[in-house]
Amino acid sequence: MAHHVCKLIKQIDASIRTIMGGAHPSSVPDEVLADTHVDIVVIGEGEMVLRKLVGDLSKGVFPPTDTSALAFREGDRIRVFPPTSYIEDLDVLPMPARHLLPMQLYFRHAAPHGGAVKRHPVTNMITSRGCPAQCCFCSIHTVWGRIFRVHRPERVIQEIESLIHDYGVREIQFEDDNLTLNRNRIQDICRVIVARRIDITWSTPNGVAIYALDKPTLRLMRQAGCHHISIAIESGCQRVLNEIIHKPLQLSKVSPIIRAARKNGIGVSVFFVIGFPGETMEEIRGTITYGLKMRVDAVLFFTAMPYPGTELLNECLARGLLCTPVNYAQMRINYPMFDT
Ligand code: SF4
Repeated sequence: MAHHVCKLIKQIDASIRTIMGGAHPSSVPDEVLADTHVDIVVIGEGEMVLRKLVGDLSKGVFPPTDTSALAFREGDRIRVFPPTSYIEDLDVLPMPARHLLPMQLYFRHAAPHGGAVKRHPVTNMITSRGCPAQCCFCSIHTVWGRIFRVHRPERVIQEIESLIHDYGVREIQFEDDNLTLNRNRIQDICRVIVARRIDITWSTPNGVAIYALDKPTLRLMRQAGCHHISIAIESGCQRVLNEIIHKPLQLSKVSPIIRAARKNGIGVSVFFVIGFPGETMEEIRGTITYGLKMRVDAVLFFTAMPYPGTELLNECLARGLLCTPVNYAQMRINYPMFDT
C-alpha cells in the first residue's frame, strides 16, 4: 500500500520527493528503491536523519551532504549508507507533536493496539527504544538497534501529564518493546505516578520481558494504574527457547510472575509462536498444551514469520524453506510463509 501511495503521489506531481522509513525499508532499502516511485529511504531511527535531509532538500541539495542512514537512487545506481549511530539520549528529542495531529480521530479507536482497555480516551506512548536480546524472529533492531535507550522518568511523567491535561487522556497503552527492562526506571516512574496521584490507567500490550519483572515491581505497577500486561513467552519448550528462538527466558520463572501479577489484580495475556524450522510436532503440541493450561486472561498463538532483517529469514533462505515468491503484502503473524 505504501508503494501504491508513492505511485499516486508521482502521478499527481512527479517532482514530489517520496521518502520511506520504518522496519521494512530499513531492512531491505535496495528492494524498496527498486520501485522508482520511491526516491529515498531513511534507515533506522528517523528523527535526526529526516530533519537534516529535509533541510538539504529544501535548499535544493541532493544527494544529501550527510548520507549516513540513507539510501537513494543516483542515476541507475541504488546507494545504501547504513546508520553509523543511534540517538544515545532520547531526552534530546522534543515531545511528540501531537498538536499537529487530529487526536480526536485517534481517540475514536476503542483500543489502538487492541487488547484490554479500561478507560477512554486511550492513546499510546513509547518510553524506550532498542532491545539487547536476539530473538530469531524479531526485527526491532532494524530500526532501533540492540542497545536499550530510555527517556528518563521525569520526561515520561511530563508526557503522561501532557496527555492528561492537554488531551483529556485517561488511559495509556505503552508500546515499548521492553518497558520494564530497567527495573529501577519503571519503579521510579510508578513511584512518581503514585506520589503525585496521577489519574491514569495503563497496560503493556506489546509485551514485557518476564526476566525483567519481579514481585515488588508488579506491586508498584499496579499501584501506579497498570491493569493488564502481555507476556511474550514464545514457547513452552525450553529447548526451543534456547536453541531456536534464542530468547533469554527461563520457563521456571513464568508461573511465579503470572501468579504475582494476578494476585496484584493485573490481568495477563501471554503470546506464543509456533512453527519454527527445527521445532518438532511434539514441541508444538507441548507449547499449545502448556499455554492452554495457564491461568491467564488470554493466550495467543502465532505462526513464525520470517520478516526481512531477521535471523529467521536468513535461516529459511539458507535451508530453502520459503514458499516462493515471497509476498510482503501477506506477511502476517497468522499466515505461514514457509514449509518445515
Ligand atoms: S525480547 Fe522482544 S524485543 Fe527483544 S529481541 Fe526478543 S522479541 Fe524482540
